[in-house]
Amino acid sequence: MAKIFCIANQKGGVGKTTTTVNLAAGLAKVGQRVLMIDLDPQGNATMGSGIDKRKLELSVYDVLLESASIVEARVQSDKLKAAGCSYDILGANRELAGAEVEMVDLERRERRLKQALQEVGDEYDFVLIDCPPSLSMLTLNGLCCAHGVIVPMQCEYFALEGLTDLVNTIRQVKANLNDDLEIIGLLRVMFDPRITLQHQVSEQLKAHFGSKVFDTVIPRNVRLAEAPSYGLPGVVFDPASKGAHAFVAFAQEMVARNSAG
Ligand code: ATP
Ligand code: MG
Repeated sequence: MAKIFCIANQKGGVGKTTTTVNLAAGLAKVGQRVLMIDLDPQGNATMGSGIDKRKLELSVYDVLLESASIVEARVQSDKLKAAGCSYDILGANRELAGAEVEMVDLERRERRLKQALQEVGDEYDFVLIDCPPSLSMLTLNGLCCAHGVIVPMQCEYFALEGLTDLVNTIRQVKANLNDDLEIIGLLRVMFDPRITLQHQVSEQLKAHFGSKVFDTVIPRNVRLAEAPSYGLPGVVFDPASKGAHAFVAFAQEMVARNSAG
């Protein structure tokens, strides 16, 4: 059965999608079988994996509303296949924004994704879920099926404060819906070693969260920011860049942690 991870942080623009697509590509590069699920109506992880969200025939929306299975709705990107870093993609687009309302009266509405994943869990080593910047029904569906949450964060002054809401939500989901759930790690992203404050916050994080802070640090790197406009993860767009190296190292750290149990 695949290990399922949500990439979540209710704060916007902290690097969730960049982490999701580059970790997916990094894991594929080191031989892991990966399904990437885009749970954000913005569809950035879909576009950033080389799939045009406007042309999706089936998406995670259809899966949540049980009008399609994951087997029917998943797609692959030719560009990623050509680069030898392919992973399966369950895409999203604006249609997903309506799912929240349409699901209000449905039974087990927070367990829809979990249910759907049972059919394909054995086909993958990792399932990565890119969550929207909110603690909505969509994020809840992700948290309900996950073994763990990866929290990307920038080492800024309010970083720790922003974590409180997420930690509380995860505690509630764990108590009520998913006993497996835990924060498996905080990932320091967009790190700029020239900024003293970032080192200080980084040290604070380690003091507070200990081994929950991943060893790998993702640097601020313009190639990672440029890659989505080419419909590629940075790991594929410029494999020699510092950002790509960091995400491959992070993929290896995830594989090592996973096999350690
Ligand atoms: P949202 O909350 O809107 O979903 P997000 O948390 O998914 O945002 P991203 O879209 O991954 O965040 O990143 C926000 C912006 O920062 C993007 O323009 C992205 O290209 C850029 N970015 C992310 N990580 C890095 C990095 N390590 N170096 C440079 N730019 C980065
Ligand atoms: Mg995003």
